[in-house]
Amino acid sequence: MSGDATTQHARGGPRPSRGTRGTPQPRPGIPLSSGGSVWGDSSRAEEALALASTGRPRNVILFVGDGLGEDEITIARNYLRGADGRLVLDRFLFTGTVTNYSVVPGDPTRHNYVTDSAAAATAWATGVKTYNGAIGVDAFGAPVPTLVELAGQRGMATGLVTTEELCDPTPAAMAAHVADRSGRGPDTMERCRAQAAENGGPGSIVEQLVRTRPDVLLGGGGQYFRQTVRAGEFQGRTVLDQAAAAGYRLVTTAAGLAAADAGGPLLGLFGDGALARAWVGPKARTDRGPAAVCRVNPDLPADQPTLARMTARALDILDERAEGRGFLLQVEAGLIDTASHDGDPCGMISEVAAFDEALAVGLQWAEEHGETLVLVTADHGHSAQIVPVDVESPGATTMLLAHDGEPMLINYATNLPGEILVHTGAQVRVAAHGPSAAAVLGLGDQTDLFRLITGMWEEKDAHAEV
Ligand SMILES: [Zn+2]
Repeated sequence: MSGDATTQHARGGPRPSRGTRGTPQPRPGIPLSSGGSVWGDSSRAEEALALASTGRPRNVILFVGDGLGEDEITIARNYLRGADGRLVLDRFLFTGTVTNYSVVPGDPTRHNYVTDSAAAATAWATGVKTYNGAIGVDAFGAPVPTLVELAGQRGMATGLVTTEELCDPTPAAMAAHVADRSGRGPDTMERCRAQAAENGGPGSIVEQLVRTRPDVLLGGGGQYFRQTVRAGEFQGRTVLDQAAAAGYRLVTTAAGLAAADAGGPLLGLFGDGALARAWVGPKARTDRGPAAVCRVNPDLPADQPTLARMTARALDILDERAEGRGFLLQVEAGLIDTASHDGDPCGMISEVAAFDEALAVGLQWAEEHGETLVLVTADHGHSAQIVPVDVESPGATTMLLAHDGEPMLINYATNLPGEILVHTGAQVRVAAHGPSAAAVLGLGDQTDLFRLITGMWEEKDAHAEV
């Protein structure tokens, strides 16, 4: 990173210093440029309806913004594009909302109005409502088949991509089953005794991820893969050794990812923990500071791939490995959530920018290859709110100078100042583009995403048998 870049203002458009090559140009179908509304454009609506009615998709790409509530979307839009600008996310014509409540352990008839990422991801991964902390298990702790497992049984290629740790709930719930999200590696199974390998269980999340064997696993969390397996075939060896025995090739840099081919399953570990946030800026505080702009994170590792690069590589590898049988890919922007827990609006905004850039890659890929449904959603809302600039808030705030040149006051009041900020319980957006996209309309629940995807597979199978 050059000295210049560390003081470079970060605003508008994709991330300023890296990863912008390959950003798609505007194309028919979904214009990727910013600005203007799509309402009232009947030719766009007819085009989208025609595409949506072209049968069942062969491929599904599910994009997830972790903690991407409507407040987070609006804050990012105001900062990146202006109040009258548009993100790529805003260009989807088929949009709806989904409820995301979780349930009480042992009693799925009792509702919990604020979900965590584990219960939310389990909802779309399995179609089952469960309790906060649950990974791929129902409210009683019983394992439930996941989309990645079901896709694999159909002979489809599968992939999980995230900027968080690969054992974080959003990817984990697609391919593993543990009683509690803390069961990430063999050394952290205190709350998942029944699943621990030494107790005859299937092992921790990372052990199960490797055994489920998606074709592509890209993200962070290397520390858990280096832990030692405690029982079974790989006892005394690391989870990385187990991955190698399963055929995984390991890459740890953007260059390694770019050079990886489709010759076998691919494991990309680009950090011990989560990947680094691209931008930094003033964190929320109780004494209001002046309006600030975000800066490029001077500590951003030069060899960390962007979410867009990971998405592009995953799509090409999955398409090749699927050999015509289709693929299921989940792409998560995980740092929206962690930055929001920290009251770090610049970290949050840069991750929404990275998500939007990855969405553009996914849409362009879908346009070029066809037969691909692109879905976008979030697991839950988060702590940020836009409030009037002259309000006296009991919470912590950050004032940012937004794209329009106006100050935007962001309020964080979901917990006492100094305490970790928390999720909120509002419904979240779901958007769709491509074959069957017209199924996404109005209000649904996160579990409906599971039914939508598996329903398409069943219809495809029924059609193929005729
Ligand atoms: Zn969270």
